[in-house]
Amino acid sequence: MNSSDTSLSAVPTGAHLIGGDWSTHAPGGTATSDNPARPDEPVGEYPLGDASTAADAVSAAVDAQAAWTALGFGARARILEQAAVLFDARADDLALVATLEEGKTLPEARGEAVLSAETCRYQAGLAKTSTERIFPSGTPGETIRTVRSPLGVVGVITPWNFPILIPVWKIAPALATGNPVVWKPASNTPLTAVAIAAVFHDAGVPPGVLNLVLGPGSMGGALVADERVDGVTFTGSVGVGHGIRDVVTARNGRVQLELGGHNPCIVFPDADLDMAVAAVVGGAMGATGQKCTATRRIIAVGDIHDELVDRMAAAVSDLKVGDGQDPATAIGPLVSRGARAEVVEAIEQARAEGAETVAVTEGVPDGPCFQAPTLFVGGTDLTITREEVFGPVSTVLRVDDEDEAFALANDTEFGLSASVFTNDLWKMDRAINEMRAGIVKVNGPTTGSEIHAPFGGDKNSSGHAAREQGDTAHEFFTRTRTAYIKPGSPR
Ligand code: NAD
Repeated sequence: MNSSDTSLSAVPTGAHLIGGDWSTHAPGGTATSDNPARPDEPVGEYPLGDASTAADAVSAAVDAQAAWTALGFGARARILEQAAVLFDARADDLALVATLEEGKTLPEARGEAVLSAETCRYQAGLAKTSTERIFPSGTPGETIRTVRSPLGVVGVITPWNFPILIPVWKIAPALATGNPVVWKPASNTPLTAVAIAAVFHDAGVPPGVLNLVLGPGSMGGALVADERVDGVTFTGSVGVGHGIRDVVTARNGRVQLELGGHNPCIVFPDADLDMAVAAVVGGAMGATGQKCTATRRIIAVGDIHDELVDRMAAAVSDLKVGDGQDPATAIGPLVSRGARAEVVEAIEQARAEGAETVAVTEGVPDGPCFQAPTLFVGGTDLTITREEVFGPVSTVLRVDDEDEAFALANDTEFGLSASVFTNDLWKMDRAINEMRAGIVKVNGPTTGSEIHAPFGGDKNSSGHAAREQGDTAHEFFTRTRTAYIKPGSPR
């Protein structure tokens, strides 16, 4: 393919992209990518790399680094603009591959492709704006200014739940700021990753500047341990993220983490209930509850509790669960049998601990990955109200007043997103200022964000690096140098 190609006619062949070449080198053997909605119809095969594959990709990135940086921001931005054109042109094909591998509905997957185009366009534009600052100097005639240089070789490690958009919101700013990338995607969505790498490759990203390696977590471990990798940006689970943090910081590398969440939504008595019910059910169950920003706890204040629960229960019961390719489907399957087993176990534990089931979606198809969305009412003694369960399960908790609501919302190790439903300006202001979360929504779901605004969390939901997306995205991928410039002596 070349940069004028605008179609990707079928599921791509599973292959690594190293130094500009597609490779099926498979030291770890070959694996199958499954369709969670149709377990009898595998999506395709892909080669499993190992530590040597990761090392080869890092070598290719090191070799490509100087020329990519020297190319300058204008030329890099033009390549990203072409990538945006291809993401738009191939949105249907990318969506199909993502739906086949991940299970989400086609409109959701297509939305990721379109936002990926938007991200490339935005980061291309941002590359052309100055991030330098000028400071006064105490020395007459001297100027102090900051300059930014690329971080170096960047390792990108991504999850499967947003298999198109999350990789792109990391890769685009890394490339725009002059860094070569080695990307290890999640094992559940390898062919989606190939389709994305093909977009950048076909858009004109030079050989070695974007490398894709397919394989198990241990290969990701080799990537992050490689001394030549200057920084790692990771989205995934807390345990894996903290392990990566320890390895990368021990060798003085830079690390950016986006981890789990346990996101609260407070519904106050004065809330617009139509708005709240739609947002809370969508936030809890949308994308089969497999969003880091999904609504895990619904905190109902005072008397609104009973009506809120009744209306949510009716809405949850009516959800349509099915194959993500079926236009009537609202909720697809979970990503894998293993993911479903974890959700089933958490539901059984919640019931054993005394949670009251108020709604279970009916008419769920047979199949090892389909799971009925489930709504509980219970107390804070339930494990499910503290630990992240990555599926369509949520719990309504009742509190008596505003202080109790805010205290309970913040009573979690996580701090990714939070929301409140109210028409009271004071409560809105309290939410914005007191909720310990990186994203606070007022009269909106805990889910969803815009690509031009900073994204990230507090506490165990993120690391300490700068926020992703928006105009803060380039901070992680650049080094700041402070220059003191004095005129020389007169000749
Ligand atoms: P995961 O942590 O299991 O895997 C994430 C990635 O890390 C995958 O590519 C995996 O292959 C790789 N990996 C696994 N072991 C590794 C190791 N030892 N070294 C290096 N890489 C390794 O997460 P997942 O199941 O793919 O995704 C679900 C999790 O991601 C949830 O906890 C969810 O909350 C979180 N998530 C967070 C955000 C956010 O922005 N905060 C967004 C999406 C998902």
